[in-house]
Amino acid sequence: MELLSLGFWPESFIDRRTGLASPDVALVAPRQTRWVIVCSNGHAAYTAKSEAEASQAAVACPVCQVAVTPTTCLRIDKQVARSKGFGASACAASIALLS
Ligand SMILES: [Zn+2]
Repeated sequence: MELLSLGFWPESFIDRRTGLASPDVALVAPRQTRWVIVCSNGHAAYTAKSEAEASQAAVACPVCQVAVTPTTCLRIDKQVARSKGFGASACAASIALLS
C-alpha cells in the first residue's frame, strides 16, 4: 500500500476500468532512474538500474569494444525516464475514467 501512495501502479490489471488487480502483482514506479556509462569514444556502453551497479560495471563497449569501467569511462549520465504506461495519454485516460 505504501508504494501505491507514491504513484506506483500494478504491472497488470484484472479489470483496467475498475483498477482491480491481483494482490501479488508487481508494482511499477512512475519514473525510473538509470545510470548510463559512456565509453571514452562517446558511446552508451552500459545501462545500470542503480548507482551501485554502475559503480561496479566492467564491460566492453558494444560499438567500439573498448573496455569500460567507472574509472575509464568518459562520464556516467544519470537519467530519469517516465515508465511505460505513465505517459500523458495514460493520465488522460485515467482522468476520463474517473470523471
Ligand atoms: Zn564505444
